[in-house]
Amino acid sequence: MNKKLSLKIFSDISKVADEMQQETYVIGGFVRDIFLNRPSKDIDIVTVGSGIELAKKVAKKLKPRPGVNIFKNFGTAMLKYKGMDIEFVGARKESYQRDSRKPIVENGSLNDDQNRRDFTINALALGLNQNNFGKMVDPFNGVEDLENKIIKTPLEPSITFSDDPLRIMRAIRFSTQLGFEIQTETMQAIAKNRERIKIVSEERIIDELNKIVLSPKPSIGFKLLEETGLLEIIFPELFKLKGIEKVKGISHKDNFYHTIEVLDRIAPNTENLWLRWSALLHDIAKPATKKFIEGQGWTFYAHNFVGVKMIPKIFRRMKLPLNDKMKYVQKMVQLHMRPIVLSEDEITDSAVRRLLFEAGDGIDDLMTLCEADITSKNPDKVKRYMKNFKIVRQKLKEIEEKDAIRNFQPPVTGELIMQTFGLAPCKEVGLIKDAIKDAILDGEIHNNFEEAHDFMIQKASELGLKKKD
Ligand code: ATP
Repeated sequence: MNKKLSLKIFSDISKVADEMQQETYVIGGFVRDIFLNRPSKDIDIVTVGSGIELAKKVAKKLKPRPGVNIFKNFGTAMLKYKGMDIEFVGARKESYQRDSRKPIVENGSLNDDQNRRDFTINALALGLNQNNFGKMVDPFNGVEDLENKIIKTPLEPSITFSDDPLRIMRAIRFSTQLGFEIQTETMQAIAKNRERIKIVSEERIIDELNKIVLSPKPSIGFKLLEETGLLEIIFPELFKLKGIEKVKGISHKDNFYHTIEVLDRIAPNTENLWLRWSALLHDIAKPATKKFIEGQGWTFYAHNFVGVKMIPKIFRRMKLPLNDKMKYVQKMVQLHMRPIVLSEDEITDSAVRRLLFEAGDGIDDLMTLCEADITSKNPDKVKRYMKNFKIVRQKLKEIEEKDAIRNFQPPVTGELIMQTFGLAPCKEVGLIKDAIKDAILDGEIHNNFEEAHDFMIQKASELGLKKKD
């Protein structure tokens, strides 16, 4: 515990706080993370008096670059020092109005300040004045909750969540990140106040949701969102995946539980948020495409393509980026069945080349997604798939080494076709270009200029075109 407080920054703050005769503490996430042995570079300092004045005096001593940043409206000040972000604030008391999660703030005591914290484990404070340096102030038994891995609110949970419903998302996020249990009454209060989430901005919700997605076992969070009724409100498309239908004794799997299992399975293999989102969305169009067909059972025809079309709407509403990240997720969703289908047939060079061409640099991620997607309970089936994937991976490697298809650029350009045959841009140029591409992908010719050029001459003559003199 005291090792972290032995950082020079704390003794410097201590001296200044004593000179000012101001009661001062380090509080919140930083103290929690000392106990959990988690790295943390955000330090929150609370002082009974002016946080801004304390920060200014500390800055005078430390001379940090770039100086102290003052947010007068919020009564806070920030400084960066040796890679740490240190925020200073005066202890405050908060009260809330029904229609906003922005509180009315007045000056208060340390105790008032701890009362406004979201969870007992986030309300711990360590004294920084000389007379109480390193002494814990823990009015809600937060240390005990850390030991027992419990998340609960310091005050009445329903009021806590109704006042600021972002805390609902934070509770579920901390539970997922830390593997902590949410205490029963706190869970009930979350469910009761679920509709209040509507006053929280999408940006704040997605921040928390992304932290859940990036956790070691994201399914914990998605199950909690579902159990408390929040999933339906914040992510209706995912909620719709839930449930099993049975016709003539044949049922399909529950695609919600399948999806979050895929997300858990991919988690140890990637920290890429967008690959994890691809896992979350890979079957998103299954409800929209579901059909029972006599003799075939349940089908989800073209669910990958329909999924691709659904993604922009989901990303826009959730304030996720509408740029190349989204395009990447769309590509993963579109292609997510291809390696499986490929591995079920005889694995031909031509099929592997086409997959490489379409996936480009996403090929390795696509294989990672595809492997995570195998959630069958039948061990023989899983073994067979994994064996086939190994063959697919091997083939991908061989063909990539031989043919360099991954970032395929046609060896003969449209420009050259037009020049050679004296053409303006027209349908024939596209036809010849596509024919060259197909010939390379099908292995009829090699991926080099000479062979592509000869093939172009041959194809053009079939179309009745003559070389320009
Ligand atoms: P992380 O760094 O993982 O987000 P953290 O707990 O440090 O965790 P911050 O958002 O930096 O999160 O918040 C710092 C502290 O401020 C928290 O530990 C908590 O005491 C308090 N806090 C933050 N948000 C709220 C909130 N919505 N309601 C009440 N207290 C909050």
